[in-house]
Amino acid sequence: MPRKFLIIGQGLAGSFLAWNLLQRGMPVTIVDDTHSDCSSFAAAGMINPITGKRLVLSPRCERLLPFAKSVYEELEQQFHQTFFEPKDIIRLFRDAKELNAWESKRAITHLKEYYGDRLPPGNYGAVLNDALGSFLIRQGGYCRTGELMQCFTDHFRSRECLWNERFDHKELQVYDDHVMWRGQGFDKVIFAEGYQAQNNPYFNWLPFNFAKGEILTLRARTGLLPDAVISCGKWCIPIAPGTYTVGSTYGWDRFDCTVTDAGKQAILSDLGRFIPGPFTVTGHNAGVRPIVKDLKPVLGLHPRHPAVAIFNGLASKGLLWGPFYARQMTEFLLDAQPLEPEVTVDRFAAKHFQ
Ligand SMILES: Cc1cc2nc3c(=O)[nH]c(=O)nc-3n(C[C@H](O)[C@H](O)[C@H](O)COP(=O)(O)OP(=O)(O)OC[C@H]3O[C@@H](n4cnc5c(N)ncnc54)[C@H](O)[C@@H]3O)c2cc1C
Repeated sequence: MPRKFLIIGQGLAGSFLAWNLLQRGMPVTIVDDTHSDCSSFAAAGMINPITGKRLVLSPRCERLLPFAKSVYEELEQQFHQTFFEPKDIIRLFRDAKELNAWESKRAITHLKEYYGDRLPPGNYGAVLNDALGSFLIRQGGYCRTGELMQCFTDHFRSRECLWNERFDHKELQVYDDHVMWRGQGFDKVIFAEGYQAQNNPYFNWLPFNFAKGEILTLRARTGLLPDAVISCGKWCIPIAPGTYTVGSTYGWDRFDCTVTDAGKQAILSDLGRFIPGPFTVTGHNAGVRPIVKDLKPVLGLHPRHPAVAIFNGLASKGLLWGPFYARQMTEFLLDAQPLEPEVTVDRFAAKHFQ
């Protein structure tokens, strides 16, 4: 039987993986329910090398960021569109602890390419409330995720490998060395269902810790804000003249993709603390970030069914992690290359799989 792969879910995870497998000449069938609950369409697309209150460099950033940028370049050439927009990120200090964190990081020579100079309070006039000053995060930017997802979808449709319907796990027959679905045999099924992995009978035992998020699109007077991402707990990304994506919220108790007035008010109120505005809300989106407890991706084979695999856990870093780990998953599937121990699904099997 020729090698063949079945991928469930066409968010960023399923798309990057399918793209890699197709690039290697592998036949792929992707099943997605027309993105009915898809976090990738809610993603702002931000790629921020420095995160959190402690201003730490994102884990493995020095390897993953250049890799992601090179993949976006490749995709830009393929689809004749710009996806990655490099942008400085103006990080406003919120308290003295953050200032200290910046000072200690900035003293480390090889980190200087990410941690830019400190800028004094008032640097942006009345446009930003930068009472404690700010610094520039270098090497970041954002990816035009909606456009990228649309190109992937069109590409998979043109290759006739995308089935737009809901996948029913009961229709899958699993054997040791292959699976069957609707009369067709596949080497492996790879589940890339985002937070809907919670309903997957093969992987619902994983320690998920999903987070619902909401974001807004805002209009403001053109030229009101500097041409940079502004970050201060919440963030504001200039996506077109006078248009901004702003977010986001984190909710840990309700998992669906419906927008709420409370989410909108939370974003506007936090934003108002560092950007006075005025703004008009023109869009509102929600999604659920697929996070596992140790905040790392989850890749690999089911502990009992070697023909059943997972590619998930991209958390709030799908744009940074997706390209790298999709390549790693591809090399695992096709070349028997090992997965990194910290991302393999095996790390959870002993404790969580009965
Ligand atoms: C508000 C918000 C803002 C974010 N901002 C950023 C950001 O700025 N930068 C960043 O890097 N990341 C961001 N993220 C995170 C990013 O969205 C995720 O990391 C990424 O989208 C996860 O992709 P995924 O493919 O794993 O899941 P998803 O995008 O959710 O895709 C899963 C797909 O599988 C389909 N599916 C599931 N089950 C089935 C089934 N049984 N049958 C058929 N289809 C099925 C779903 O409908 C969906 O289309 C954000 C997330 C949110 C919610």
